[in-house]
Amino acid sequence: MKVNLLDFDLENLAAYCQTLGEKRFRATQLFRWIHQAGACDFDGMTDLAKSFRDKLKTQACICPPNVISRKSSADGTIKWLFDVGNGDAIETVFIAEADRGTLCVSSQAGCPMGCLFCATGHQGFSRNLKTSEIVAQLWCAEHDLRQHIHTRERVITNVVMMGMGEPLQNYRELLPALRVMLDDHAYGLSRRRVTVSTSGVLPKMDALGRDCPVALAVSLHAPNDTLRSHLMPLNLKYPLADLLSACLRYLEHAPRDFVTFEYCMLDGVNDQDKDAHELVALIRAQGHPGAWCKFNLIPFNSFAASNLRGSSVERIKAFASILNNAGLITTIRKTRGGDISAACGLLAGDVQDRTRVKLRMARRQVLDQEA
Ligand code: SF4
Repeated sequence: MKVNLLDFDLENLAAYCQTLGEKRFRATQLFRWIHQAGACDFDGMTDLAKSFRDKLKTQACICPPNVISRKSSADGTIKWLFDVGNGDAIETVFIAEADRGTLCVSSQAGCPMGCLFCATGHQGFSRNLKTSEIVAQLWCAEHDLRQHIHTRERVITNVVMMGMGEPLQNYRELLPALRVMLDDHAYGLSRRRVTVSTSGVLPKMDALGRDCPVALAVSLHAPNDTLRSHLMPLNLKYPLADLLSACLRYLEHAPRDFVTFEYCMLDGVNDQDKDAHELVALIRAQGHPGAWCKFNLIPFNSFAASNLRGSSVERIKAFASILNNAGLITTIRKTRGGDISAACGLLAGDVQDRTRVKLRMARRQVLDQEA
């Protein structure tokens, strides 16, 4: 079986090239061809020696997953569906804005975390993605977009690990993928423009701070443990007090001086004035001076398997005012790509459902195992 070069960050590629008898600078050239030029044909890599190209042709490949579909929304949002084998598919979404192009990347096929308000969580869990499958989402989207708008300039300026899956449950494969995104010989994204979003896998939050500190977003969604454990089973293992302490530890390494808290607005569940006041008290109780966190309120997109409803626009605005008036910087996320099921929390719409049994087993594993 051929080695898929999309699995390697530059260090690993250099080590691999060494096994072929090639020096490090050859690995850097190859890395640029793959990620900056979007090449997948070794013959076209004209500044590499023919003998090196011949070795690569027999032993290696640049193999992204097949694209099943590519849908464009009326608002310019684009969603790709990738076939990752064995009946599994993953989704990747590009959101174009005036000053940035953000790619929302998946880290798992399905998700074992079982958050009540999340379409992916309802779908169940199949497996962790490989590094190559995480990197390939960026590789495919970047070069597809360049082709479509006829440019050689970089189109994707930000990556958010907020697609399907809990990225920190797949830490081993995530780490090299993040390094590829940040590498100046590949995509050259700044640490501030790569965000890992987590439901709160604490040991891996600490590891990420040590190994590859990028921007951090945490799914909070509730102001107390009772409600959060109901909405997010992982809270039974890592309750709020421990989660917030881990966020403050992360800030010692983070490229930004704040953590973003995601808060999905659920009608009558977590969206009342009393919930907002409880949230303010929770943040203040950490005793950390300064604006160390920001809130991002997410309008909930309902889906077939859910019996939850989204809060009204007025309720979301009232909730935001309480947080803002208390000095917590709060924004309301614009819903994008709703017509192609690319909006937040809807990534699973085109993906085959896993069985409920499989989902229950995965949930039990999350709570039983060390993350
Ligand atoms: S919100 Fe994130 S962690 Fe929770 S089930 Fe959905 S994808 Fe998984």
